[in-house]
Amino acid sequence: MDTSPRPIYLDCHATTPVDQRVMAAMLPFFTQYFGNPASVGHQYGWEAEAAVQQAREQLAAAIAATPEEIIFTSGATEANNLAIKGVAEAYLDRGKHMITVVTEHNAVLDPCRYLRSLGFDITFLPVQSDGLINLADLENALRPDTILVSVMAANNEIGVLQPISEIGALCHQRGILFHTDAAQAIGKIPLDVNAMKIDMMSLTAHKIYGPKGIGALYVRRRNPRVQLAPQLHGGGHERGMRSGTLYTPQIVGFASAVQLGIDEMGAETARVSQFRDRLWQQLNQLDGIHLNGHPTQRLAGNLNISVDGVDGQALLLGLQPHVAVSSGSACTSAKATPSHVLQAIGRSDDLAYASLRFGVGRFNTETEIDSVAEQAISTIQALRQVSLGV
Ligand SMILES: *Cc1c(COP(=O)(O)O)cnc(C)c1O
Repeated sequence: MDTSPRPIYLDCHATTPVDQRVMAAMLPFFTQYFGNPASVGHQYGWEAEAAVQQAREQLAAAIAATPEEIIFTSGATEANNLAIKGVAEAYLDRGKHMITVVTEHNAVLDPCRYLRSLGFDITFLPVQSDGLINLADLENALRPDTILVSVMAANNEIGVLQPISEIGALCHQRGILFHTDAAQAIGKIPLDVNAMKIDMMSLTAHKIYGPKGIGALYVRRRNPRVQLAPQLHGGGHERGMRSGTLYTPQIVGFASAVQLGIDEMGAETARVSQFRDRLWQQLNQLDGIHLNGHPTQRLAGNLNISVDGVDGQALLLGLQPHVAVSSGSACTSAKATPSHVLQAIGRSDDLAYASLRFGVGRFNTETEIDSVAEQAISTIQALRQVSLGV
């Protein structure tokens, strides 16, 4: 194994390490309480089922839902697919129009594009230069045959927080279902499905110090009762909406991670946003640095910048030994394409490529932040000198 020091991890929008406390909660369910929660005939099954039920109650309470409204999935990608394709199939007699936003995660955009290929009519709303949707645009796009509006709570690239309550209110006035992808929001900002009039919400554990491979879809049961066509058929688990043996250790870890996120939200938001601001203040001493996304209506740990006068690839390469961050290009297959989110807020291709997404998290330290700022500044300065031919 490579024993050289590893880069500082500042990519918490991609994934996070599992918190030791979450790990400790999960461990007994691998080896000791390993039963199948669906085994109703013996103690092993009951133990596992009790743990799943407790996790379900914890997760429900975290978003002001009821336990029956939590459908466990493999993560937010599957939850988004279930919400969007499940509603499309179940509400065929009501209409074939859906509305989403150009800056959504591909796990929302791709199911929508797939439905469009099947003959559904999808409106992809633009965003303003700060990354927020214009509510009047949404209102104008709503039609009698609109069956679903899907708008994310927090953006995974620029951290922008969409006006979820206002969107929920607009949809509910017209009897249109509202889904939100809250993969980046759960455990980081308060979420209340009733106050925010959310009908479906996608969640995942691994962005909040929980394990990968587990998430959930919240599905409203009353006012209105959401109908969903299952996308995985089988043993009829999860009220028939998602078959497959429940993954007890991951479910316990998921609930534990969300609970920690909520219990420590105030202190963690303060610490992480202070680090983020400290990083921004240092980087912004250079000329030609642009903040991407709304300056304040954003996740505490998110900083996304574009840099004038440097090549994006060279910037990332220069930083790689020191810091693990993402750039504004998505390497889908071999070819890098500029981020669709940065393009949507009006950045040129050059500025979209020459961008960095920092995701500050629970385990970062002030020393790390200062070291990253120093490395980023010297890398940018060096690249600019090269491009000026100095
Ligand atoms: C990470 C992420 C997803 C995908 O979640 P998985 O659990 O990895 O499938 C979907 N939406 C957003 C906004 C995300 O950040």
